[in-house]
Amino acid sequence: MNILVLGSGGREHTFAWKIAQSDHCDNLFVAPGNSGTSTVATNLNIGVTDFEAIKDEVLKHDVKLVVVGPEDPLVHGVHDFFINDAQLKHVSVIGPQKAAAELEGSKEFAKEFMMRHNIPTAAYESFTKDNVEDGYKFLETLNPPYVLKADGLAAGKGVLILDDLDEAKLELKQMLVDAKFGDASTKVVIEEFLDGIELSCFVLTDGKDYKILPTAKDYKRIGEGDTGLNTGGMGAISPVPFATEDFLKKIEDRIVKPTVDGLAKDKLPYKGFIFIGLIKVGDEPKVIEYNVRMGDPETEVVLPRLKTDLVKIFDAISKQTLSDIELDIDERAATTVMLVSGGYPEAYEKGKEIFGLENVKDSLVFHAGAKESDGKIVTSGGRVMAVTSFGNTYQDAVKKSYQSIKKLCFDKMNYRKDIGFDL
Ligand code: ATP
Repeated sequence: MNILVLGSGGREHTFAWKIAQSDHCDNLFVAPGNSGTSTVATNLNIGVTDFEAIKDEVLKHDVKLVVVGPEDPLVHGVHDFFINDAQLKHVSVIGPQKAAAELEGSKEFAKEFMMRHNIPTAAYESFTKDNVEDGYKFLETLNPPYVLKADGLAAGKGVLILDDLDEAKLELKQMLVDAKFGDASTKVVIEEFLDGIELSCFVLTDGKDYKILPTAKDYKRIGEGDTGLNTGGMGAISPVPFATEDFLKKIEDRIVKPTVDGLAKDKLPYKGFIFIGLIKVGDEPKVIEYNVRMGDPETEVVLPRLKTDLVKIFDAISKQTLSDIELDIDERAATTVMLVSGGYPEAYEKGKEIFGLENVKDSLVFHAGAKESDGKIVTSGGRVMAVTSFGNTYQDAVKKSYQSIKKLCFDKMNYRKDIGFDL
């Protein structure tokens, strides 16, 4: 079968790497891809939301399965585009349809979904510019810190956590009245602050049944000790040591099962990954957010631990026979450390040559913001590559990643030196 992966990050390189190992994959394409995906697939130079261009390539290359990496095409309805097109409707798409992708596309939609299906989450209310005064009053009833969330997609920047009530009111006004995040903040969800430790749970569903993938924890901030600005993710580990069997059972019973059942009850068509951002408050799991795709860099630790043929799993999702699949998971721990451009997540330079890739033997290197230029691999983004390693413990694994990183360099290369050290 010919397969197309949409996206260009470390997540998509990991998908491509894993799919390329399958006997069920004949030709693999990635659009637009990066210097890593081109080592295992053919890159197609088209954008992930250019549906007409995607259609042309799918027909040209007789693609039978499309795996959608990022949220943007899903929220814009790429799956529905395929279903509604006579020439594309027999192509399988991994990723929810537009109505279900609202779980990520709208925080209010996600909160209402959780309320409807009794899924534990922070108490909340949502506001528009017509009732901003009510928003101020609601803030006054809460204890700090105050959590303000732009309803729509805001490139990971739409959540503000503020200690001061006046500042929270001012931000609320800026979001609602001054459109701080454009259309994304036409509505704002204000929610109770949950104090606890975060982890992510990844679920595969065919809309009827589900399979739970290994847990992971990512490191979002740029600085050691989880300080400084938020990033797309600086590293990850899997499994999460504090996710005991009891705790995982709670996640499954109270969150995963009601989520999948809720999607079916609400007639929200879903064939793909659900990424559930959780927080452990005391011993109780609560949902912080849903994402309708895999996480990045969590994919770089979760998929390498999956021994089962990924194309077989995708095929079962398409045919709604996921219940027949047994997931085989590598018992070893996996960690990944993200190499980033100096300055990221603020301004940074691109085009720096990356040296030493051929010397890394004990780790997997997944390219993200990296591209080929005149026969060299150069940086092309803030997050440049993820260095993934296995170990009997996550401490062993992360040690290996740091040893491999010593063999790599580019001008102003930066990375966190403390991935996994807090656990
Ligand atoms: P991302 O794109 O980074 O996944 P997002 O913009 O979709 O994030 P959320 O995941 O909802 O937004 O929130 C971002 C971060 O803010 C969370 O990872 C968590 O650390 C923190 N956060 C969100 N909601 C709460 C809450 N109710 N209590 C405490 N912290 C919270």
